[in-house]
Amino acid sequence: MTDSPKRNIAILGSTGSIGTQTLDIIAEYPDRFHPTVLTAGTRVELLAEQARRFRPAMVIIARPELEPKLRTLLSDLPIEVASGADAIEQCVARADVDLVVTAMVGYSGLAPTLTAIRHNKIIALANKETLVVGGALINERLACSDSRIIPVDSEHSAIFQCLEGEDTRLAQKIILTASGGPFRTLSRAQMEQVTLADALRHPNWSMGAKVTIDSASMMNKGFEMIEAHRLFGCPPGQIEVVVHPQSIVHSMVQFKDGSIKAQLGVPDMHLPIRYALGYPERLPSEQKTLCISDYSSLTFEAPDLEKFPLLRMAFEAIEADGTAPCILNAANEIAVAALLREQIRFADMPRLVADTIAAMPSSQEHDYDTLVAVNAEARRMAESLLPRYSTIVSTPIRQ
Ligand code: MG
Repeated sequence: MTDSPKRNIAILGSTGSIGTQTLDIIAEYPDRFHPTVLTAGTRVELLAEQARRFRPAMVIIARPELEPKLRTLLSDLPIEVASGADAIEQCVARADVDLVVTAMVGYSGLAPTLTAIRHNKIIALANKETLVVGGALINERLACSDSRIIPVDSEHSAIFQCLEGEDTRLAQKIILTASGGPFRTLSRAQMEQVTLADALRHPNWSMGAKVTIDSASMMNKGFEMIEAHRLFGCPPGQIEVVVHPQSIVHSMVQFKDGSIKAQLGVPDMHLPIRYALGYPERLPSEQKTLCISDYSSLTFEAPDLEKFPLLRMAFEAIEADGTAPCILNAANEIAVAALLREQIRFADMPRLVADTIAAMPSSQEHDYDTLVAVNAEARRMAESLLPRYSTIVSTPIRQ
């Protein structure tokens, strides 16, 4: 292990949940990893604090109006400071970047991921929306590049690990596990009453707000189904979603001989991040490990597609293909943002997304310019439909 070269890493989204956990791991292995570039959306103080501790060559803040503050905070250090989406996209091309961790939220991950592919970087992909929106385009670009994607999403890391050393043609089915989120046991009528605070309480995983909301609505699992289809080339009909409330089995692969391989572990994102950074090595860790005898039962059940219509819409979008997943993602991003502002209710999110999809024709084109235009148009459409659902937020059902 000591002979392995040091990897220089660009972390896009270093102040978010995945970004800070990535820095935890870099701090665990200072001889193996160095963060060359750190980027953040708006958290300028935390970005400056991280830069002071880890001494990257460059830091970038997405909001240009925050650049002067970042410069002031780092004025005594020899660290290059920049701002804006273009700077974030271009930083991944730097010669001193070996591996890019894409940990930003939403559609913003697409452009830098394409640039990283063009420059043959290893990509530790934590931004699933990139594959949802532009999966077909990304696979075309990967085919003519030395770049490769190592998934960070826990389910996809599990599938990736299950497929290591296997003839992937003999994989018959991918079994994606889902915790079921905080509303797994609620009735459809109770689902109408849940609040933002209820949705932000995930039972097992500690994550950022966007993915926590997406987990509560099971949109996250729908996106992960699309992500699995793109990453592993598995037809949508051969991907099964099962609800596994304990979140110990992170996903499984069934092979044509009838065997099922599973990857298990504690529900902690440090595990798949460590695997992605070290791949193909497994890095020894002091992290709390799973004690399997603590679990007297691990349970699995089919998801309720009526109760979680966004999961059903993801199945429909991947069947429709082309720009359909891009429209789904854009509408969902607007719906989640509106819920986080408490402008709409949780139960209205699938209605807003369904209305946006109904109002937007999809096409089979998937070139970059089409995706950019469709994303913008779907966002405008969803924004214009928002007033239909703007309402007083109901009282929480959980005290
Ligand atoms: Mg996941």
